[in-house]
Amino acid sequence: MLNIVIFGAPGSGKGTQSEKIAGLYGLQHVSTGEILREEIASSTELGKLADSYMSKGELLPDCVVIEMLEELLSKRNGSKGFIFDGFPRTVPQGEALNSLLQRHGEKVNAVVSLEVEDEELVSRLLKRGEIAGRVDDNRQTIESRLKVYYRQTAPLKEFYREQGILEEIKGEGSIDEIFGSIAEKIDSLSTT
Ligand code: ADP
Repeated sequence: MLNIVIFGAPGSGKGTQSEKIAGLYGLQHVSTGEILREEIASSTELGKLADSYMSKGELLPDCVVIEMLEELLSKRNGSKGFIFDGFPRTVPQGEALNSLLQRHGEKVNAVVSLEVEDEELVSRLLKRGEIAGRVDDNRQTIESRLKVYYRQTAPLKEFYREQGILEEIKGEGSIDEIFGSIAEKIDSLSTT
């Protein structure tokens, strides 16, 4: 099994690159943001809860997303592994993912961190807000998402660096260029 975590600030291109990685390596794409948006669209209890956090750019409580992930991992669909997008977002979520995978005799093989300047992030998110109409892609919410990212999510980089699995990739350039650098890293994993 190959389990990859894609990591980066909002707007760093995690979703776009995850789709491509999932396609090339036959991995199941797990996007917690997408799952939560579907829950909101279907007005489930979880969706209502998610909406109250997402619309403010805040993170859902760890226990809620960890439970969601636990359930997802228990119904594996025979893929060659997972690409985790938007999870983990806090150090406790990172710890939970490690122990969940361990329980299945698995581990995180690599963490791909997409490095993008703040200015570029904001302009990408504002543009996405106009095109895709995501409610959290407005200037005020973007600002709080970036703050939340630096305060709660960025410490995970150190967490993974210490485990020796952090791969920093320049997240600026064309989509295909970035994908090329990611694939190179992933290929070098399976051969070593
Ligand atoms: P982006 O990376 O552009 O912020 P996502 O679609 O990954 O977009 O996430 C959107 C929102 O969903 C987050 O701002 C947060 O409110 C919620 N969310 C997604 N994943 C998690 C998570 N692992 N833990 C807590 N909240 C999450």
